[in-house]
Amino acid sequence: TIEFVRATQLQGDEEPSAPPTSTQAQQKESIQAVRRSLPVFPFREELLAAIANHQVLIIEGETGSGKTTQIPQYLFEEGYTNKGMKIACTQPRRVAAMSVAARVAREMGVKLGNEVGYSIRFEDCTSERTVLRYMTDGMLLREFLSEPDLASYSVVMVDEAHERTLHTDILFGLIKDVARFRPELKVLVASATMDTARFSTFFDDAPVFRIPGRRFPVDIFYTKAPEADYLEACVVSVLQIHVTQPPGDILVFLTGQEEIEAACEMLQDRCRRLGSKIRELLVLPIYANLPSDMQARIFQPTPPGARKVVVATNIAETSLTIEGIIYVLDPGFCKQKSYNPRTGMESLTVTPCSKASANQRAGRAGRVAAGKCFRLYTAWAYQHELEETTVPEIQRTSLGNVVLLLKSLGIHDLMHFDFLDPPPYETLLLALEQLYALGALNHLGELTTSGRKMAELPVDPMLSKMILASEKYSCSEEILTVAAMLSVNNSIFYRPKDKWAESGYSSQWCYENFVQFRSMRRARDVREQLEGLLERVEVGLSSCQGDYIRVRKAITAGYFYHTARLTRSGYRTVKQQQTVFIHPNSSLFEQQPRWLLYHELVLTTKEFMRQVLEIESSWLLEVAPHYYKAKELEDPHAKKMPKKIGKTREELG
Ligand code: ADP
Ligand code: MG
Repeated sequence: TIEFVRATQLQGDEEPSAPPTSTQAQQKESIQAVRRSLPVFPFREELLAAIANHQVLIIEGETGSGKTTQIPQYLFEEGYTNKGMKIACTQPRRVAAMSVAARVAREMGVKLGNEVGYSIRFEDCTSERTVLRYMTDGMLLREFLSEPDLASYSVVMVDEAHERTLHTDILFGLIKDVARFRPELKVLVASATMDTARFSTFFDDAPVFRIPGRRFPVDIFYTKAPEADYLEACVVSVLQIHVTQPPGDILVFLTGQEEIEAACEMLQDRCRRLGSKIRELLVLPIYANLPSDMQARIFQPTPPGARKVVVATNIAETSLTIEGIIYVLDPGFCKQKSYNPRTGMESLTVTPCSKASANQRAGRAGRVAAGKCFRLYTAWAYQHELEETTVPEIQRTSLGNVVLLLKSLGIHDLMHFDFLDPPPYETLLLALEQLYALGALNHLGELTTSGRKMAELPVDPMLSKMILASEKYSCSEEILTVAAMLSVNNSIFYRPKDKWAESGYSSQWCYENFVQFRSMRRARDVREQLEGLLERVEVGLSSCQGDYIRVRKAITAGYFYHTARLTRSGYRTVKQQQTVFIHPNSSLFEQQPRWLLYHELVLTTKEFMRQVLEIESSWLLEVAPHYYKAKELEDPHAKKMPKKIGKTREELG
């Protein structure tokens, strides 16, 4: 068992007495009654009046109060979509955009994709009729390319603003500008109870509309001592809650798919072993790549007598509300991207979450009744080791994509762009330098013809450069496939540990079972969409007819920035001389080619190159003579190279 101590209480707005259980509420009431029961409903008229009176309104409300699903509907009912005008509501996460649009379509009794739809990269579920558009923040950003003043929109709601994703932050600057010369455009900035004063200041002191919370108090517990293995501690704690605590569902926050699958497996395993000694425990995962029918399961009411445990990523922190949660289990971690502009290395690492995040998570326990939040760390750690808030993404990511987009919107002076928080100077500089090397910008920092084409393609600059280069090497058919597969990169193969062994490691069995159909279908869709854009960027369809050197050269033309060479002490990146590794999962792991290029560099246990390709150094001079000098590509140790460097897969175990 794990010993918890009760430390503090998250104040509620409601008395802890006599809460209705959500399952009863859900079963008894119709969908319209549920709509009327949401905290935002009593403020409908007041909110609409405020929107009518102000161009920009900041809306603050507890998660689950109805901001995302209700406000666009109110605007629809109020006539904001008359004369074919549209309402956009942005979400930082693809899953949230899809799930929320589906919910709203159901509430309005329309087919998803008709009046209500969603639009996420490479997937458009909207039509001519769609007036309520839920979309990722990145998609609205791309809308600026075709419609710089967003003329067909009457309202733009930037939702989940507190998440401060890169795209949301850029949207702020652009929308603020559009609002100046489109006085009839309404701008809503919706967020959980965080940061609203800053948003207000940024938008010239726009008023803040507060939807009073409706939350029951939540008791917060900490562990007495730090837990070394938080996954194991999670599993033990869930069972402990299940056995000792009164009814109510459990929500567990983990950092990603792998962890979630492992935890669910462990939980199911132990429940099976305990058999009828415990009541039924439904174990349900939720993460971005989960098929949508599985995602829908988390919203279904828990059967009487059973208890549900939802094992989720950050997505359940503010984007999705699951009814019936009374207990939250929080190990206090999240997966976070960081970026080093000096090395160009992006890493995705598990880091402690912020205090703001921890409190949002705790709040999930008080939606339907007084709840409890169990933190798998000590009260001391909370006080001394957690940051107050999460650093905005713009300060810890690469900016190539966004800089190219802003340049094509005619924004040249990026140093003076209206950022809520500016990105590090070095990151901006590196992005400009990379775009220059790729030929997207000229020496004055102006967009070139090729840069304009690159911005047309909804993929990263290096990838779009590779697609453009396929014209020269007459291999666009193959390059489109490469681009499509890279866009779904890590989800093609499915590796269920147990079944893999069971099948006798047969390749036939792999062939039949381990390729994720869904990912392949997505890759096919991405490929079709990219193919549809080829004409716009003046690339004709052509095939290399088996001459794969041409395909490899086209890839090199996009990725020459990402090269590594084998030295006596392993692989080093050519420009920064940084030590990097081929991942043992790669088919080139044992072959160890002399020259490589990589799709991305990811720091996990080591600096791994992900998706590598063998190249010849002479190609670098062919595709990027402005970037490489013959001298730096010479190989002084060529003759003395050891045959093999590094360990084989077996040696690594
Ligand atoms: P907010 O944006 O303020 O966090 P939402 O509009 O997302 O709130 O959700 C309001 C309520 O709608 C939730 O509390 C929940 O009861 C209900 N809801 C939202 N999505 C779903 C869904 N997919 N299935 C069932 N109920 C949902
Ligand atoms: Mg919301």
